[in-house]
Amino acid sequence: MKKNSINLFLSFFSVVIISSCSGSGGFNMFSDSEDVKLGHDVSAEMLNNQKEYPVFRGDPSIKSYIDQRIFQQILTSPKIAKRSVYDYKIELIADDNTLNAFALPGGNVYIYSGLLKFLDSEAALAGVLGHEIAHAERRHATQRMTKYYGVEFLVGMILGSQPSKVAEVASNLFVGLAFLANSRADEDEADKYSIDYLKDTRFYPGSVKFFFEEMRDDGLIGSKSNKVATFLSTHPDPVNRIAKTNERLQSSGIAIKDWKSNDANLFKNEYAANIKNKLPK
Ligand SMILES: [Zn+2]
Repeated sequence: MKKNSINLFLSFFSVVIISSCSGSGGFNMFSDSEDVKLGHDVSAEMLNNQKEYPVFRGDPSIKSYIDQRIFQQILTSPKIAKRSVYDYKIELIADDNTLNAFALPGGNVYIYSGLLKFLDSEAALAGVLGHEIAHAERRHATQRMTKYYGVEFLVGMILGSQPSKVAEVASNLFVGLAFLANSRADEDEADKYSIDYLKDTRFYPGSVKFFFEEMRDDGLIGSKSNKVATFLSTHPDPVNRIAKTNERLQSSGIAIKDWKSNDANLFKNEYAANIKNKLPK
């Protein structure tokens, strides 16, 4: 693991000086193909760690349904700029005790079975997936890494003046996926893009907030529940995000619905039949 990571780091630092480029939302030392490489490396890492990230081995139709009927549909939005550049795909993690999802740089999106059991509609899942796709599209993780480590530090590593720092960066990357803890600004941007992407689908566009509304109504926000601890540490301010999403819907002239709505564009029955009821009890 460490060796691969270090090789990967060295390979991209070697091109930093000639190819440092601006990401869509700020300075980013990584190129798009380095985002993809980094994501693949972390993904292989996770596969080797079945204790922490066990691959879901239940009914395979659940994953293919989510992929074809929800994930791929979002990716058809013309607003997805890196559809042919990134390796967009979903993976399910068999962990009913975690309500969370996350995206790796370069487009691999992970969904915990606990989240699938908790949600109530295809729209709610589409809202989460739109949000995670936005993290990849907007390159939040590698932008944050650029900011965190700093150009001087990263260049120092390649010149070999700080060899111990190489190992430090590589190990920090994988410890509890800490680098996926997003800033409030990144979260807000991902919510905004989720609405924009979903406008081009059959799903209710404001559904990114359904997960937060359901957590709120179940008393999970502000609780010390382990189920939401990781979510809350990587996704701050769920209550503010509900309000912000409602403001955005209002200013786009979209009717405000909540997660309890039974309107057809939430696809609740389909969610129950094709996803929720097929999960192991
Ligand atoms: Zn997020």
